[in-house]
Amino acid sequence: MGQQRPMALNVVMLGPPGAGKGTQAERFARTHGLPKISTGDILREAVHNGTPLGCIAKRTMDAGELVSDEVMIGIVAERLKRDDTCPGFVLDGFPRTVVQATALDEIMDKRGPLVVVDIVVPEEVLLRRLAARRICGSCGVNAPVEWVTACGNCGGRLVHRTDDGNEVVRERLKVYHRETKPIVEFYSGRPTFQQIDGNQPPDVVTTSMDAAIRAASLVPKEARL
Ligand SMILES: [Zn+2]
Repeated sequence: MGQQRPMALNVVMLGPPGAGKGTQAERFARTHGLPKISTGDILREAVHNGTPLGCIAKRTMDAGELVSDEVMIGIVAERLKRDDTCPGFVLDGFPRTVVQATALDEIMDKRGPLVVVDIVVPEEVLLRRLAARRICGSCGVNAPVEWVTACGNCGGRLVHRTDDGNEVVRERLKVYHRETKPIVEFYSGRPTFQQIDGNQPPDVVTTSMDAAIRAASLVPKEARL
């Protein structure tokens, strides 16, 4: 008695390529001891483990098609049943459609609040950042700014991503905004929807994101929708 149950920090991350979403998701998850759940990872895992949904996903991907909402929702729902998500989680790459977002609300119905973080960065800044983005020429990992010339994983030489030409980048951003707009509209009226200014030093983004998520996690249930 009297022991306060810590609130769960259930987070969905949104943000265009170049916004620093991956880094911030990683940091937040690590600081709070939460699993960072990226759809790419759990999809690969489901396929690797040969779960029924994983097998369906594999057949779809082998045929060069996109995994359906239904299968994606099933795989995420299975992942969110694991014990390590009790204190919360950071979801990256899901939901991608309104159907997925609606299903996530159902999954979250009896759990803590779902905080949606949208990292916002002006397009010119994204273009500049993406043009400067480098990867390792040997192992292909994305290079954080701290790596000056060599890969911190394998020592390989860092190179600019060849697909990051200005036109390609512009197109990627256009696709992102087209696909994400309905999701942002789906969430934007909620008190648990938080837009974060991503055009700041990464540490400042981390701090404001942390404060926003904590505040939003305290929104009472009846005020959430
Ligand atoms: Zn490398």
